[in-house]
Amino acid sequence: MAAFLGTVRCAPGVARLAPCGRRFRVSGPVVPLRRRGSSPYRLRSRASLNTSAEDAGGMGREGGSDSEIIFMGTGTSEGIPRVSCLTNPSKKCPVCSKAIEPGNKNRRLNTSILIRYHGPTGKCNILIDAGKFFYQSALRWFPAYGIRTIDAVIITHSHADAIGGLDDLRDWTNNVQPHIPIYVANRDFEVMKKTHYYLVDTSGIIPGAAVSELQFNIIQEEPFVVNDLQITPLPVWHGQGYRSLGFRFGKVCYISDVSEIPEETYPLLRDCDILIMDALRPDRSSSTHFGLPRALEEVRKIQPKRTLFTGMMHLMDHEAVNEDLKKLLEMEGIDVQLSYDGLRIPIML
Ligand SMILES: [Zn+2]
Ligand SMILES: [Zn+2]
Repeated sequence: MAAFLGTVRCAPGVARLAPCGRRFRVSGPVVPLRRRGSSPYRLRSRASLNTSAEDAGGMGREGGSDSEIIFMGTGTSEGIPRVSCLTNPSKKCPVCSKAIEPGNKNRRLNTSILIRYHGPTGKCNILIDAGKFFYQSALRWFPAYGIRTIDAVIITHSHADAIGGLDDLRDWTNNVQPHIPIYVANRDFEVMKKTHYYLVDTSGIIPGAAVSELQFNIIQEEPFVVNDLQITPLPVWHGQGYRSLGFRFGKVCYISDVSEIPEETYPLLRDCDILIMDALRPDRSSSTHFGLPRALEEVRKIQPKRTLFTGMMHLMDHEAVNEDLKKLLEMEGIDVQLSYDGLRIPIML
């Protein structure tokens, strides 16, 4: 058993090792939540909904939906525009030069979404990933959409564009709420012990110094529950031999970093209303990400009702690519578009 200091526990679904506190040990695996005959995808219990216009903050605007997702970021790791494109004296990058315009949909920060729904104690905000540009994303969208708390952060993998913003969560735990639960696979937690050692082992913090107060919950590749919302990990490859997790909640599937979907993950993608899928570049895949042609192949195989691509680099021009993708709706009946930072989609949970 690994022994170290910090706030660590198993994800709900297993007996918790101890009440929330400062010093714990990591222990055994999370027990799968799925019971025989039950759907792995449902919100386990539904709080009564009483959305006023002010309370809703835009939630519930379409088709009786009581929940929504907000795209906090839809770009590749370095962000769009690239600084190097803007300083290149010999070549003007068409996408990056558009992306500097305020409100332009080519302006993209690190991939991340926020799930908003009515949980057991009111509105819940669950963030998937807090990468390098998390602060800038939150600065843009939290005040604009009236988002105050972060009720949990779920981690897809431990690259810098997924976990680089953990330190910035200190503003919330210092000023908004006492702590933030982090849900993370053990392999990625092992990385965090190195990259964010002072957030994992808080014993060395000078009294009075204010760092993010994080509670680490170790997840397996099995469904788990966060504030009554059942989340199903979607294991994928993100480069050869490197695992990343997508997540399913309700009929929404989110896969931000993928180069290969293992056969055993496809059944978890069945009956999907909204697929959010990695599509790095327009022409080909890289060793770690789907390109657009491969992403479209996967869409044809998975057959979701609607697809939004994410994780785009600067070769993906929002308007031009979306115009091309629109044709697929007429030609093949496939509803696919690029997402953009700040996009809000009502969802049913
Ligand atoms: Zn560029
Ligand atoms: Zn990555």
